[in-house]
Amino acid sequence: MARYVFITGGVVSSLGKGLASAALGALLQARGFSVRLRKLDPYLNVDPGTMSPFEHGEVFVTDDGAETDLDLGHYERFTGVAARQTDSVSSGRIYSTVLEKERRGDYLGKTIQVIPHVTNEIKEFLSIGEDEVDFMLCEIGGTVGDIEGLPFFEAIRQFSQDRPRGQSIFMHLTLLPYIAASGELKTKPTQHSVKELRSIGIAPDILVCRSEGPIPQKERDKLALFCNVRPDSVIAAQDLRTIYDAPLAYHREGLDQAVLDAFQISPAPKPDLRIWEDVSDRINNAEGEVKVAIVGKYTQLEDAYKSIAEALTHGGMANRVRVKVEWVDAELFDTEDPAPHLEGFHAILVPGGFGERGTEGKIKAAEFARTRKVPYLGICLGMQMAVIEAARHCAGLETAGSEEFDHEAGKKRFEPVVYHLKEWVQGNAKVSRKVDDNKGGTMRLGAYDAVLTDGSRVADVYGTTAIDERHRHRYEVDIKYRDKLEKAGLRFSGMSPDGRLPEIVEWTDHPWFIGVQFHPELKSKPFEPHPLFRDFVRAAKDMSRLV
Ligand code: GLN
Repeated sequence: MARYVFITGGVVSSLGKGLASAALGALLQARGFSVRLRKLDPYLNVDPGTMSPFEHGEVFVTDDGAETDLDLGHYERFTGVAARQTDSVSSGRIYSTVLEKERRGDYLGKTIQVIPHVTNEIKEFLSIGEDEVDFMLCEIGGTVGDIEGLPFFEAIRQFSQDRPRGQSIFMHLTLLPYIAASGELKTKPTQHSVKELRSIGIAPDILVCRSEGPIPQKERDKLALFCNVRPDSVIAAQDLRTIYDAPLAYHREGLDQAVLDAFQISPAPKPDLRIWEDVSDRINNAEGEVKVAIVGKYTQLEDAYKSIAEALTHGGMANRVRVKVEWVDAELFDTEDPAPHLEGFHAILVPGGFGERGTEGKIKAAEFARTRKVPYLGICLGMQMAVIEAARHCAGLETAGSEEFDHEAGKKRFEPVVYHLKEWVQGNAKVSRKVDDNKGGTMRLGAYDAVLTDGSRVADVYGTTAIDERHRHRYEVDIKYRDKLEKAGLRFSGMSPDGRLPEIVEWTDHPWFIGVQFHPELKSKPFEPHPLFRDFVRAAKDMSRLV
């Protein structure tokens, strides 16, 4: 049975709970333990699939097709453990399950209450797969004291009581604000947040305190005394230059040791931190810089493209260069010449997206990259735009467009080179959808196999012709246009195994122009950069030498 670490937060949000959890996962792995990380979110959306990336950041998709919180991306990037549907849950999902059961009569006429019905549902979620790993790290979203979070806090309290003693611990993340005028680090907000936690029956075993600088011994002792934790379980989390220094930094601060001590695991296995030393070295000692433009719509919130930004960093690490990303709003040149906005970059990336806004600009970005021979990586919508660009300007289909935009506008304007997919094959089963199905859950989601053409650039980049990658989209490039486009020089170099769905296109007479229908960024890791990002950054590096 797994040991459970519950990770909660207090004082303010955005303290980096996800990162702390992910780094702890990596450190436990470095000591030879197996881990799984989970996220429990208090919001009422059933999943984040329908939330605006402006508000919530990117939707992270798992192999088994769940649309989850971007923290699961952190977990994967630090541990390499592929997240699953059952690693993320929201209040919305919990309540909808409870209400479904109520309608079905499963509760046999009982009055349905938060305790025990909702909390039982949460506990059931927590225990899924508990025999598979040594440690289960469960992060509770939000901060202690939020109304929405209460059922989760109550559930983890009960859960630790239900289990044998010593099977679960609580780790609480807080902020120590620094008051410059008096030159003091303040412990009071942390004391209050621990008090809040204790008032609902949870006594933290470990305190992780975010602070700008080091925490002097005096403050550590004070925190230990007032918050009732051991002094060596007060862990400082100082601001870091890069998130990838987090495992080493937390190790130096003694986080993994404190966790093993709390579980009384002794002697503690020695950690092997070579992977993280290499990662840290590569990122901190880069030689040179390449500039990449990400031409998208959600440019105000960087979290909207979190995994892409991280994957580019990984690509940089593989090539020992820093990748400087600039976010370029595609709408700026919907009707203008994109050159003033795109000149000077060593590569252009057009990411995924939904809806018509900004798409003419993205098509122009693809055209700019093609004609100026700038490395281009089109992801999902970015691939569709590259295909439309090729169709309009190289294959004589001037009115080429996507059915998505016509559907949105309620009128037919485009030749549907990208069309709505009504039916597809997943494994041995056929899946079918209508355009008007509920917005949530009508997409091709999760891992699908693709077959790459021998001798193509992508086959060379991947080093294989059989891959699987994660998808999240409704529309597909129509193979009806394949011949025309291939004659123009756009090669369909990756297809679904049944040959019906184009997965990858590439321009043959271009230094590096690849569009992929899937999301390679979701599988990239600092210690295992995704081949497409590795090679895209290499191409950008070559380009930077040319200009
Ligand atoms: N909107 C496009 C589709 O649904 C692309 C989606 C995406 O980029 N993730 O097919």
